[in-house]
Amino acid sequence: MAAKQQPASDAAKQIHYLAAALKAPRIVEAASRLADQARDAGWTHEDYLAAVLEREVSARNASGAAQRIRWAGFPARKTLDDFDWDHQSAVRQQVAALASGAFLTEARNVVLLGPPGTGKTHLATSLGMVAAHHGHRVLFATAVDWVARLQDAHRLGRLPAELARLRRYGLIVIDEVGYLPFEQDAANLVFQLVSSRYEHASLILTSNLPFSSWGGVFGDQAVAAAMIDRIVHHADVLTLKGASYRLRNRGIDTLPSIRTGAGEPDA
Ligand code: ADP
Ligand code: MG
Repeated sequence: MAAKQQPASDAAKQIHYLAAALKAPRIVEAASRLADQARDAGWTHEDYLAAVLEREVSARNASGAAQRIRWAGFPARKTLDDFDWDHQSAVRQQVAALASGAFLTEARNVVLLGPPGTGKTHLATSLGMVAAHHGHRVLFATAVDWVARLQDAHRLGRLPAELARLRRYGLIVIDEVGYLPFEQDAANLVFQLVSSRYEHASLILTSNLPFSSWGGVFGDQAVAAAMIDRIVHHADVLTLKGASYRLRNRGIDTLPSIRTGAGEPDA
């Protein structure tokens, strides 16, 4: 047998083997480094065990969050730190409260309403990233993409299985509700998605239209009303205001949708 460079103790070898069996190889390094620290500082066995496990858990959370963010399908990475609150000061407190992540454990929803360019997708993404950091799995897609996904599942006769699978995601973001009106069957699929998550897991929805116009989007006042009822029963509704951030330095303030918005009174 080839001689080892550094003869390991039996216990160290066993830790090596057990950490591999637990698929936690970082424990090997943490166990040996913290053992010296523990001896020097006179830690109890419990302190030592907790410290080793804590390193593993925080390493897993960090790499897990990065992975969940990669898998979420965000159109771009946008964080709350990147957000300029001078442009949307009215929702600052509400967003700060949401950033604690408590809404996810309570299966509450968030609805972001406002004209184009006011930061709805940005904030939905940022809250999605918060969710990923809190250990929740996240999926982001536009309403149109969600419908396409659900239609595929429906066609294959596996809509219930798909809805059950999606319930394992702590957060689903449905961006751009209302940019395109839905056919009746599409509206029903979105309704089923909303219903299946009701009081189980969170949704974030964004829309450039007020709730009063959703009947037109879903082609049916009754479906829209039933859906809005479930969405807002446990929800924070944030209304973003003002001109498009995209156009802020362009001297353009006459997008059709912001002329009628809740901006400054205009002659
Ligand atoms: P919406 O989804 O409401 O149309 P977006 O969230 O896509 O708007 O915002 C358009 C662009 O402007 C994005 O690049 C976004 O990051 C940026 N943006 C919007 N509002 C803000 C803001 N208050 N602070 C920083 N960037 C913003
Ligand atoms: Mg958007």
